[in-house]
Amino acid sequence: MNQPSALQAAQTAKRIVLASLLGACAVIATLLGERVAFQRSYGEAMVHARDAADLGRKILLIDERLTLTAKLAAETGERRWQLRYEANLPIMRQTIDQAIALAPPSIGRRFNAAITEANGSLVRLEREALSLGARGARDEARSMLEGDAYLSAKKQLEQASRQFRAAIDDHARAQAATAQREANLLQTIAVGAGLLLFAFLWRRLTTDLGRTVVDYEQATAQIETLANQDALTGLLNRTRLAEELEQMIARCQRTGEQAALILLDIDRLRPINDQYGHAVGDGVLKFIGQRIAATVRNDEIAARLGADEFAIAVYCGDNPEAPMRAARRLINAISVPMTVDGHIIEVGATAGVAMTPTDSTDANDLLRKADVALVRAKIESRGNVRCFQGQMDAEIRERGLLQSELRQAIVDGQIVPYFQPLVDLATDTVVGFEVLARWLHPTRGLIPPDTFIPVAEESGLIGELTFAVTRAALEHSHNWDQALTIAINVSQRQLHDPWLAEKILALLTETGFQPHRLEVEITENALVSDLGTAKYIIQSLRNQGVKLALDDFGTGYSSLSHLADLPFDKIKIDRSFIKTMREQAQSATIVRSIVGLGRSLGLPTLAEGVETIEDANTLRDIGCTMAQGYYYARPQPAADVPAMLRQLHDNARGTSRHKRRA
Ligand code: C2E
Ligand code: CA
Ligand code: CA
Repeated sequence: MNQPSALQAAQTAKRIVLASLLGACAVIATLLGERVAFQRSYGEAMVHARDAADLGRKILLIDERLTLTAKLAAETGERRWQLRYEANLPIMRQTIDQAIALAPPSIGRRFNAAITEANGSLVRLEREALSLGARGARDEARSMLEGDAYLSAKKQLEQASRQFRAAIDDHARAQAATAQREANLLQTIAVGAGLLLFAFLWRRLTTDLGRTVVDYEQATAQIETLANQDALTGLLNRTRLAEELEQMIARCQRTGEQAALILLDIDRLRPINDQYGHAVGDGVLKFIGQRIAATVRNDEIAARLGADEFAIAVYCGDNPEAPMRAARRLINAISVPMTVDGHIIEVGATAGVAMTPTDSTDANDLLRKADVALVRAKIESRGNVRCFQGQMDAEIRERGLLQSELRQAIVDGQIVPYFQPLVDLATDTVVGFEVLARWLHPTRGLIPPDTFIPVAEESGLIGELTFAVTRAALEHSHNWDQALTIAINVSQRQLHDPWLAEKILALLTETGFQPHRLEVEITENALVSDLGTAKYIIQSLRNQGVKLALDDFGTGYSSLSHLADLPFDKIKIDRSFIKTMREQAQSATIVRSIVGLGRSLGLPTLAEGVETIEDANTLRDIGCTMAQGYYYARPQPAADVPAMLRQLHDNARGTSRHKRRA
């Protein structure tokens, strides 16, 4: 997850919670304040209304008292009632003023006018009645206080007082209603403001969190991609392969389908890195990734496992050939030349295949078995496809065992040279021998080089092994017919050793072997991996008179330009061509063209794997110079060479007699 953005979101969230709390407090405080204010103003209005009503009633009471004292004064003419009447007059005025003061100005004014007028009329009539009474005209005085004018003024006062109270009441109610309205408005404003604040904060929070969620999702997606994908090719990586493979296996078990796991090892990637640099090497891998991806369906798997190793899992039909075909299709797709950075580059691939559910229903075990098949395929030859077979497991274990024993075996002289004759086709005479290593194992018996040479290469013992075998071969053969050449094999790995030429020359000196009798066989593939060092080694050996043969010609990837550039003395045609020639007559064309090539370069050609007289005759007819194979002799230990030579000599004489007769 994106750190700053998560932090930001957390801080925003914290601020927003705080702001929400403050906002909520503010709203509650406003509502409380409003309640208090409302209660107060409402209460005040009610108190005013009650006081005003009391005063209104009090005015009527005082008026009654005035009427009564005025009547008594008029009836009796007594001074004390007159005085009492006069004493009540200011109380009346005072009460009226109090009432007016309590009332709002408009009501006060209206009331003041009405009540003052009514009271004024009453007081005037009462005063007149009092003076009549004082003069003794009691009847007149009484009739004045009971007369219509007096009664109507009294009614007027009463009415004014009632109206006053009603007005005060109305006013108080109106005031309360206003207060209520104001309170409602305040409430609405507070709640509205609160809601607005919440809406704003919520928006802030959701946008910020939303952004964080997007960041988070992007980051997780990226992490997921990184965790699942090979950065260079975009194919799945090893971790993801195992998961996907498990699902594929589960589907196969459910549906009864078959699926093939194909492990591909890209050939010749290292020399490309060495020669053109890693950027080009990466470009090549990207190309390969694209080509692999193009061959698989959506529900199938393509992954890169390591520097130059890929894994592809595909569904296969019932045809037992299907997995092989799928692997070949992949190899063919990869082998199409590609242009990277202006260089035309050609790579190959070797494949190992394991099937699910047949070979395994466990992803790791399936991977291991495909790898076992791949190791087997690589041992046999580059560009090969091998399907896993039960005995391969045992073979791999065996290899581990051999590896642990090999070093001591070399020291103990268990690796010995066998000699196979090289025959001149024109004269049927032996011109030399190829030295082929054999392991005379104390308990396992004779082990062929195909089994232990790859082990020696892998464990870095191939140099020691070759020198041990070559030393023994030279010691055995340096006294043989000096016309006989001895050919030794050097492997691809040895051509990376810049001191190889010096080491071989030292061996020649040590054993007293003539350099011109030695021939070094180098395979085409060995040239590809480190051409610079190989060229240097070849040139150094050539300068000392050692001969060079290009071995297994036609099976590798070397271009014809190497053949023209490098000072080879011989081309050895791989035995697979001789075999096809034997099986299909038209394959002779291939051999013919290789022989033609040799002739045009001025180089002799030697056919390997000659097993029959027909092979020998065809090759002779084609124009091939030399031959080697079981037809003449199998590789033999040094002790058997003299007998073998005699036998071959006799055979040659026999054949030539036979040929002469024919
Ligand atoms: P190679 O250099 O191509 O050797 C020729 C192989 O063909 C030998 O197999 C030989 O026994 C076999 N061969 C000869 N005639 C016939 C034939 O008529 N028919 C058939 N089917 N095969 C025939 P070998 O001895 O098993 O050697 C296998 C490979 O092991 C050699 O292939 C060579 O690449 C390698 N090797 C053998 N000895 C050494 C060694 O001392 N050093 C190195 N670096 N490689 C060696
Ligand atoms: Ca050879
Ligand atoms: Ca060969």
